[in-house]
Amino acid sequence: MAVEAEAKRVAAEFELTDDGVRNTVAEFVAEMKAGLAKDGTSMSQIPTYVTGVPNGTEKGLYLAVDLGGTNFRVCSIQLNGDTTFNLVQSKVAIPRELMVAQTAKELFAFLAKQIETFLRQHHNDHFEKHLRRRATVSTPEGYRDEHVFRLGFTFSFPVKQVGINRGNLIRWTKGFNIPDAVGKDVCQLLQTEIDLLKLPVKVAALVNDTVGTLMARSYTSPGKTSTLLGAIFGTGTNGAYVEQLSKITKPMIGDYDKTTGEMVVNTEWGSFDNALKVLPNTEYDAKLDRDSVNPGIQMFEKRISGMFLGEILRIALVALMNKPDVPLFRDDNSSHNDYHSTTTIDETSPLHTQWAVDSSILSIAEADKSVGLRALRQQIEKNLGVSAASIEDAAAVKEIAHAIAVRAARLSGAAVAAIVIHTGRLNPEASSVPQPKSTAAIKEDILKGNLAEAASATANKLADTAGLSVNEEEIVDVGVDGSLVEFYPGFEDYMREAMRAVPEIGAAGERRIRIGIAKDGSGVGAALIALVAAKME
Ligand code: ADP
Repeated sequence: MAVEAEAKRVAAEFELTDDGVRNTVAEFVAEMKAGLAKDGTSMSQIPTYVTGVPNGTEKGLYLAVDLGGTNFRVCSIQLNGDTTFNLVQSKVAIPRELMVAQTAKELFAFLAKQIETFLRQHHNDHFEKHLRRRATVSTPEGYRDEHVFRLGFTFSFPVKQVGINRGNLIRWTKGFNIPDAVGKDVCQLLQTEIDLLKLPVKVAALVNDTVGTLMARSYTSPGKTSTLLGAIFGTGTNGAYVEQLSKITKPMIGDYDKTTGEMVVNTEWGSFDNALKVLPNTEYDAKLDRDSVNPGIQMFEKRISGMFLGEILRIALVALMNKPDVPLFRDDNSSHNDYHSTTTIDETSPLHTQWAVDSSILSIAEADKSVGLRALRQQIEKNLGVSAASIEDAAAVKEIAHAIAVRAARLSGAAVAAIVIHTGRLNPEASSVPQPKSTAAIKEDILKGNLAEAASATANKLADTAGLSVNEEEIVDVGVDGSLVEFYPGFEDYMREAMRAVPEIGAAGERRIRIGIAKDGSGVGAALIALVAAKME
């Protein structure tokens, strides 16, 4: 069997039809609603206690720290109040022994020490001034608020958030294991160590990285439109959006500002449709899930994010290689093997190792438009351990990789579409955006002699039909972050294609959705959440 035909057959298995997109959107909206009504649903829909998004006019100097894996980042962010900011940051690796320390104190004391070093290095004047002032008052409560830095704490481990700066650790992941910390409030653990060092810092907000992305985008996005949704397509995938308070009907324990009528909700959409009601499920997806550490969980994420796409490709390629009649990565594949050498697969090839194929090869495959697929073949050698792969081999990898990535992008588009539909942001009542007049209304204007009005309405309508007119007020802004959406060529275009296929959005709605990269979400976003939190104190 020719490799080309077999690659086409496998690629077709990953096709997500327009009907598939529409079913996904319908189920997504249903699961969003279920998660707002009660705990323990597939999509958690976690209330974040963040009750507003910025509009770019916010000002001030804030601190942000990020503990999420191998490194601890400390930064200060000067918000200039004109959608711009200045950021200074330092990064330090967490010593291994602290990741598995006996007590939480050891780790958090280390973190507080890094904050002190950072303040001394970058804000020493402020720091010294504070120390002098502090010496003149007897209690920590005695020093005035404006002399204390507000800090946003991005903590990327599962926590049960019970207030804007309170959250109890549910469990450690990613190689951390300090049993003593489980169940404790991580903000308080950090604040205690900060106070012991007498630092002028208040842990004002506990921050989820997706919420940070939403806030950072809302501050930096052009125009006056506030952002609806922040979404991450990196190692994992998740989204946080602005919800009406009245729609969050499940109980919330902590206090929050009710005046805005809104709250940011962290969807935890990675676990959308764990029951596989609508998600596509090829034999390759099923194998990935079976062999994973959490079968049946994070099923949406397992079809979308960077951690998994390379593995899906690996499993699909191995399935082809195992077919005796398919000469993939074999010498008999092609007469055009211009290396004039034998195609060989390294014994230690990542193809033979679970999780060893990095998703970036999908981007390289997509970007290589050359006839000889030279760049891709080099990557196949480097990243798949196959030397002297033929053009046919590379074309097969390209075909399958493309299908996997397009499916991921279309599913991502479905998630964005569902949130836009659920929030009613495209709906004229909800957004008070004037819609183009109907033809009948224009006729009426003409009959009544309102010719100027009729002419302007006609022009608007024509521009709208031609896709030319999107007023700033009509824009629905979405902030995204993550290597997949940033580097996979055309990821956004495939998302958009899927959104257009949903009747409630269509081509006119899709044009009104603006998608922009939110840079430095975990720094600027955390600073902005600390700012929102400070307003509530
Ligand atoms: P994180 O989500 O951990 O903050 P990133 O946004 O950089 O970090 O995402 C890293 C993930 O993206 C990894 O799983 C990696 O395999 C994948 N990735 C990195 N570069 C690319 C690329 N060019 N194309 C597709 N995936 C990529």
